[in-house]
Amino acid sequence: MTLLSVKGVSKRYGPVCALDNVSVDVPIGSRTAVVGPSGSGKTTLLRLIAGFEIPDTGQVTLGGHLLADGPAAVPAHRRGIGIVAQDGALFPHLTVAENIGFGLERKTPHRDKRILALMDMVELARQMRDRRPHQLSGGQQQRVALARALARQPKLMLFDEPFSALDAGLREGIRASVAELLRAEGITSILVTHDQAEALSFADQVAILREGKLLQAGPPRELYMRPCDPGTATFLGDAIILPANVEDGWADCALGRIATPTAYRGVAKIMLRPEQVVVSPLSADWSASQSGEDICSGHITRIEFGGASSAIAVSLLDRHLDYQPEFDISYRIPLLIKTSSVELPPVGSHVQIKVLGQAHVFV
Ligand code: ADP
Ligand code: MG
Repeated sequence: MTLLSVKGVSKRYGPVCALDNVSVDVPIGSRTAVVGPSGSGKTTLLRLIAGFEIPDTGQVTLGGHLLADGPAAVPAHRRGIGIVAQDGALFPHLTVAENIGFGLERKTPHRDKRILALMDMVELARQMRDRRPHQLSGGQQQRVALARALARQPKLMLFDEPFSALDAGLREGIRASVAELLRAEGITSILVTHDQAEALSFADQVAILREGKLLQAGPPRELYMRPCDPGTATFLGDAIILPANVEDGWADCALGRIATPTAYRGVAKIMLRPEQVVVSPLSADWSASQSGEDICSGHITRIEFGGASSAIAVSLLDRHLDYQPEFDISYRIPLLIKTSSVELPPVGSHVQIKVLGQAHVFV
């Protein structure tokens, strides 16, 4: 069932079109991530949903109630929506307990107990209750901001890049624990971020925003493996994009014949994720004619060490270039393949390339 529905929403700031006819549905109890580069309209979308901005056109509906229909809108404080901003936006002069309590009515029964329960919920030690924001780490401040937003028992929680100010190690930990909390409590949420890894790991549904347009929405795995265009493919992660001849469920390309789920026929660009490509050493005296096997091979021309994984440039043997459709010369350029840094074959060595799974075809 849909909790939030955004339909055909547009918003301009003078000459800037911040959102252009954006539609997205958020199922009840789900976690949606909206991901896009800086300036793509993410904050504007959240502010429109929260009620801090009013759309020029389009509707926002929550639980069947119309919140905004063009400029006619329900004010933010009457929407039952919680928001956690990038910097937490805590009151600097209030303690942790007072910041959290700000979300509760004065006359809430067992007010102090509720505050402690909220602190437990977001995994903040109870002895922090009398500290002020400057006495907390970035991660603890974000937990206070989350507890304050949860205090109102919102129907929907919005997060505007809430983890971006935290260091990498801490960010992953707090993101996972917030996702777990939202799942356990069944709280519907929308996270906006410019970090694709964060979006893919946090959400049930990922929506891609670029220059104010919502390009594609779906489950993370679906978007990662079947992006709508090469730009989205590379935005979501490393990609190998090659020209190919596609026919009868097969794509013939520089890496050989790869299965593909599409019924499309003709010349097209295909995409593989680097983890689908396995590079293994071949002995120096190996030759294709000898073995009779039709395997794809080449030479390593360069290795860029990158910690856990490295990029290796492989120059393919000429005989693999027969499939070359007319429009591309990129076959001549060594193929860059990200691979595990364990037991890398040396530069100059002869390697075999195997492709796992299917190729995605951009049509
Ligand atoms: P993001 O959060 O994805 O970085 P924003 O929603 O903040 O993007 O901004 C989208 C575009 O709208 C940007 O070009 C930004 O400069 C512009 N914009 C956002 N808010 C305002 C505003 N209040 N006045 C004028 N332009 C704005
Ligand atoms: Mg923003």
